[in-house]
Amino acid sequence: MTSFEPIPSDFYGFENALSDQEKQTIVALREFLEAEVRPIMNDLWMNAEFFPRHIVTGLADLGLFGQPWEETRQFENSAVFRGWIALELARVDASVATLVGMQNGLVMGSIAVAGSPEQRAEWLPKFASGELLGAFGLTEPLSGSDTAQGLQTVAKRDGDNWIINGAKRWIGNGSISDVTIVWARDADDNQVKGFIVPTSTPGYSAKRIENKQALRIVQNADIVLTDVVVPESNRLQGSKSFRETAAVLRLTRAEVAWAAIGNSIGAYEAAVKYAGERIQFGKPIGSHQLIQELLAKSLGNITASIGLVTRVSAMLDEGTQRDEHSSLAKEYTTSRMRETVAWCRELFGGNGIVMDYGVVKYFADAEAIYSYEGTREMNTLIVGRAITGKAAFV
Ligand SMILES: Cc1cc2nc3c(=O)[nH]c(=O)nc-3n(C[C@H](O)[C@H](O)[C@H](O)COP(=O)(O)OP(=O)(O)OC[C@H]3O[C@@H](n4cnc5c(N)ncnc54)[C@H](O)[C@@H]3O)c2cc1C
Repeated sequence: MTSFEPIPSDFYGFENALSDQEKQTIVALREFLEAEVRPIMNDLWMNAEFFPRHIVTGLADLGLFGQPWEETRQFENSAVFRGWIALELARVDASVATLVGMQNGLVMGSIAVAGSPEQRAEWLPKFASGELLGAFGLTEPLSGSDTAQGLQTVAKRDGDNWIINGAKRWIGNGSISDVTIVWARDADDNQVKGFIVPTSTPGYSAKRIENKQALRIVQNADIVLTDVVVPESNRLQGSKSFRETAAVLRLTRAEVAWAAIGNSIGAYEAAVKYAGERIQFGKPIGSHQLIQELLAKSLGNITASIGLVTRVSAMLDEGTQRDEHSSLAKEYTTSRMRETVAWCRELFGGNGIVMDYGVVKYFADAEAIYSYEGTREMNTLIVGRAITGKAAFV
């Protein structure tokens, strides 16, 4: 195995602070991504096809599903390390980062945060091994940013069972998952609760959203739930209100912030290479001052963002991270990502919109990362509430 080196776009060498075991995992992950994902990702993206199964099991073998949780982690590790995993994944492909973020964070996170010890013991290992592919069903056709108040999917208690009716939209890998975590409003107490729903349950149907122009490898789905019967043992026992849903999102939002930086780095690395190769006015475009400015501004965004997320993840380990902290990280890094991928695409001229040149995928995927797990506006309002003490959502 090759030895660990920080990537050149980690300009201040933040990644050097990881433990030796964490660095070894990063090296193995880089080798896996270069061998298995990079060669096929553009074709998958163009054809809107999901990763072949061996990619899912390969990610599981690397221990990427379940690193935060006691039942499934391969070794004790830090939130900063898990952030670097998200960054390294997205640096190659934002869809593979999204797959890991969903399985490890949103799905296993829901069970780890809101499940009973028995539910954790039963379900987490199955997701960690890749035996089960999960999806996280919160957003609905009529409720996106306002899910805390607006969720319309209803769960009605019926003896030892719950009967769920409603619809979900945008659910990542929802058309191919084995199990979907469905968040629904309890018809009796009006509180949002989480349910572990096997997708083979009668009444569950999912249809892929077609013609999506970002994160095309991720299979987003519209889901309809019609009298879906779920046993009480599949209700996340600790989920009593939207507070638990928000706790899951707080964990994953900070990791999306790391993935946004990885996506920026993917575009930046392609731009640095192109700047050295493309000749105009008799010399590589990288020798022109304005091209150097685009690269320097991009590296500035990346470096500032890494500094910010390093601290916000350390706060998670310290137990001091609050909603507004992860929201600021998501808002800041995704905004910087949007600038960075645009500058890097610009550097390619016309070739910047051709898939073969390796930058336009990062440019397009940035739009999905910018909007999912809380839009810029929602994360800004969460920070604004913390600053002023006044909620300005409505
Ligand atoms: C690729 C992708 C993957 C996704 N994966 C999942 C998934 O796996 N599971 C899941 O549950 N969801 C998923 N989502 C859904 C995602 O979280 C939502 O798209 C997001 O929360 C925004 O909701 P919306 O699209 O309904 O937009 P809307 O809520 O309709 O918002 C539209 C616009 O209005 C703005 N807005 C809304 N309210 C206010 C306000 N009060 N003040 C100012 N501006 C406001 C928003 O910021 C946005 O710009 C995914 C989305 C995408 C695009």
